Amino acid sequence: MPDYVTDTELKEEYGGEDGDYDGILLCGLKERILSSDRDKILIVLHTSTSHGPLYSKKYPPRFEVFTPVCESVEASDDDIEGLINAYDNSIVYTDYLLNEIISTLKELDSFHSTVIYVSDHGESLGENGLYMHGVPVKMAPKEQYEIPFIVWTSDDFRQLKPLEEASQHQVFHSVLNFLSFDSPVYDPEMSIFE
Ligand SMILES: [Zn+2]
Repeated sequence: MPDYVTDTELKEEYGGEDGDYDGILLCGLKERILSSDRDKILIVLHTSTSHGPLYSKKYPPRFEVFTPVCESVEASDDDIEGLINAYDNSIVYTDYLLNEIISTLKELDSFHSTVIYVSDHGESLGENGLYMHGVPVKMAPKEQYEIPFIVWTSDDFRQLKPLEEASQHQVFHSVLNFLSFDSPVYDPEMSIFE
């Protein structure tokens, strides 16, 4: 059964220190999984962690480990270092969030679980005078299209193929494969799993 929850609804329900940040997406996650009566559960967490232009607004203050930070791309002309610091802090926060998700799934050890983390694009941080993202892919610098693709699995239920790299196009097929869904559109070549 689809269950769609917005950050605003989660904030009303849970609030707390991370209410204004992506951490709110993790509130009640374990309970939601445990209360499902389905044997296959797909959870999509749409984060905004390192998405420009306001990198410095994407993480709670306690994650500001690199300083000083520049408040926004618009203000970064003379402060590339501050912009990079803000971006790096958002990565520290993403690292924390991924660890929280994986730790939660480890606790649910009766499930075969996987976490697939991908970004929609990268961000330019002033390299060759470029900022943010959105340059057409044919002309874009690698900073804008080389994205993280992180995979964790709870056990040996599915083996990862020894891939050098993967792309967003593989997510759909990998999800179908992991969940053992049969579909005429499923292409085993496109799965990251054996
Ligand atoms: Zn985006």
